[in-house]
Amino acid sequence: SEVRPERAAAAPASKGGAKISSRERVIFPDSGQTKGDLADYYLATASLMLPFVARRPISLVRCPQGRARKCFFQKHDSGAFGDAVHHVPITEKDGGTEDYLFIEDVRGILQCVQMGTIEFHGWGARIRDVEEPDRMIFDLDPDEGLNFGNVKQAARDIRDRLSDMGLISFAMLSGGKGVHVVVPLTPGHSWEAHKDFARRFAESLSMAEPERFTATMSKAKRKGKIFIDWLRNQRGSTAVVPYSARARSGAPVAVPIGWNELKDMTDAHPFSIDDAKRLRDRAESKTLAGWGFAEQSLPDL
Ligand code: ATP
Ligand code: MN
Ligand code: MN
Repeated sequence: SEVRPERAAAAPASKGGAKISSRERVIFPDSGQTKGDLADYYLATASLMLPFVARRPISLVRCPQGRARKCFFQKHDSGAFGDAVHHVPITEKDGGTEDYLFIEDVRGILQCVQMGTIEFHGWGARIRDVEEPDRMIFDLDPDEGLNFGNVKQAARDIRDRLSDMGLISFAMLSGGKGVHVVVPLTPGHSWEAHKDFARRFAESLSMAEPERFTATMSKAKRKGKIFIDWLRNQRGSTAVVPYSARARSGAPVAVPIGWNELKDMTDAHPFSIDDAKRLRDRAESKTLAGWGFAEQSLPDL
């Protein structure tokens, strides 16, 4: 697709090292942000997101015609992305091998945006050893109608239970409905141990308080409860990465928050792609210093 000369002058092709075409295309119709706005957001926040997305297998939510049209979840690539979107071969369950995507710099992020990407999702392992997970996520999915106060209390309770086991955890607002409780881990245990721990942890909470929590995906069993989605912790599963935009109404973003800030939050989407400057300032704050990093190993459960 050709970039018209006057458009190219307004948006230098070298910006972030990736060409963005159709900068004026509106991709968030209800709030008006364009593809150019999204590219500018990612350019401004790349240094915040890269520590959490670089050199992991990723999946992308692409919406080439905007979020109101067809979107798709993409794990593999036909070779059409740019030279900063790399491939890593990963063995599948059936013994075959598939090339997964990874990026490692701002050019990689922007080349994905050029291809219509809105959301970035990452594996819980790095490409240097995809068999050794390095983060666990408890994705809290409230049933419709549960207020956000319940979600906040659940996140804090999970933090406390993890803390009792010696594990530091961090809170992220998903940009959608829920909170992700993120547990960084030093690689050194298998996916089987990882998944097992996550499942047993979620099940023990739901058994202790069945009226508040469920550990099974079934929507029918979720009535009035919070689903502690531990299934993010299986080999091959992904979770949205911190600072990713979401393909949802208002162009919200997934954002790290401090535990002390959580109590003041009224929903899981207080920031949007219009807030790059605020997010950069926040990232420098004492509250977020060290967010998402800890040297700790998975204990026995
Ligand atoms: P919310 O707070 O609204 O639940 P979320 O990001 O946690 O937002 P979920 O629906 O709970 O959304 O999904 C959790 C994760 O599952 C996503 O972040 C994503 O990585 C993964 N996921 C979502 N849709 C798909 C899909 N179609 N195929 C594979 N994985 C998906
Ligand atoms: Mn969720
Ligand atoms: Mn979920």
